[in-house]
Amino acid sequence: MRTNRSKKVMRRAQQLMPGGVNSPVRAFGSVGGVARVIAQASGARIEDVDGNRYIDYVASWGAIIAGHAHPVVVDAVRSAAARGMSFGAPTELEVELAERVIEWIPSAERVRFVNSGTEAVMSALRLARAATRRERILKFEGGYHGHSNELLAKAGSGVATLGIPGTAGVTRAAVQDTLQVEFNDLEAVEEAFRRYPSEIAAILVEPCAANMGLVMPDDGFLEGLRRLCDAHGSLLVFDEVITGFRVARGGAQERFQLRPDLTCFGKIIGGGMPVGAYAGRADLMQQMAPEGPVFQAGTLSGNPVAMAAGLAVLDLLSRDGVYEQLDKLSGELSDGLRTLAAEAGVPFVSAAIGGMLGFFFHPGPVRSYEDARKSDERRFKAFFHAMLDQGIYLAPSPYEVTFLTLAHGPTEVEETLEAARRAFRKVL
Ligand SMILES: *Cc1c(COP(=O)(O)O)cnc(C)c1O
Repeated sequence: MRTNRSKKVMRRAQQLMPGGVNSPVRAFGSVGGVARVIAQASGARIEDVDGNRYIDYVASWGAIIAGHAHPVVVDAVRSAAARGMSFGAPTELEVELAERVIEWIPSAERVRFVNSGTEAVMSALRLARAATRRERILKFEGGYHGHSNELLAKAGSGVATLGIPGTAGVTRAAVQDTLQVEFNDLEAVEEAFRRYPSEIAAILVEPCAANMGLVMPDDGFLEGLRRLCDAHGSLLVFDEVITGFRVARGGAQERFQLRPDLTCFGKIIGGGMPVGAYAGRADLMQQMAPEGPVFQAGTLSGNPVAMAAGLAVLDLLSRDGVYEQLDKLSGELSDGLRTLAAEAGVPFVSAAIGGMLGFFFHPGPVRSYEDARKSDERRFKAFFHAMLDQGIYLAPSPYEVTFLTLAHGPTEVEETLEAARRAFRKVL
């Protein structure tokens, strides 16, 4: 596989941008080797600047679900752009996308569009604090909610430990109200409420944790969070930036039949353009300016080109059988990988839901971040490169999930499993 041009472009990029990238994981830091510079993509396949083609399982980190450069989406973007890129005034496209979100998402009565998942979560928490007049937020170790200061708190040991900054540049003060416990540990959540009664504004959770590999909620875990929030007057905030429109039309809340008070979206909702959104109970959302006292704004929020892309993708997702197709395919890929790993004698677990799957080089079970961290990184690295060399583009990190789109089909899965059969032999 030729990588001359990727190498050349990355060398230039490194002189101009930190690490040569605009988001860290893209630099291949945890797997090593040359980051591929992408030239174009179509359907389930991407092509780099050296002309190598890959089956793409990154799908813009989950933002793409219809497949790359879907003609319906490209047309929608083109025709919106031709009418003007941005006005800073209301448009009908925003109303249409808002109607769609409120129709599909069970707990959404009002919605506001922003420009990223980070912004959506930041704003939802500001609202939760205003509405409850409380300051603390409880999140789960290994949960990723964007790069706002307070959510970059690192795991502290023990239950409900006060946050410790997880990255340079984040002050102690910024994370002092961020509590963290292990995912799937309801007792730790109860303990946090005992320790800080009437102080926790909200529990923030990815209903299927998808930023530490894929860790599914135990039966009763999410229900338990709902119950504890109700008992203690806290709000339940679902971060559905990944699960929204990916595990079901109505996201994880439809799939698990739960009603969070607020929900955050990103990725798919913009159809590949930079969009985020937060939505929820009308009485809460009405506290946002200009109806209420909580300020939040955005020069490019509700951008017409981005709204058009999001709408086009949601239209494609409204077709019958779409989620059944994604479930079936992700299940087949996940089961296939597990079988091949077992044949090769490699400790391996995997899980799938909707248009995503996750795997760990670990005998399992994986129920928390602590478990996820035990995955064998050396094996992942070897597997990643063996797959890449065979034209399979997985996320270059053991803590990311594997994304499918509507353009992936049995042919892609078969090709991927063929490559995996050989790759598992190289990780021993
Ligand atoms: C990607 C992600 C975010 C952040 O979204 P950005 O658009 O990258 O700011 C927040 N929460 C979850 C669950 C995510 O996966």
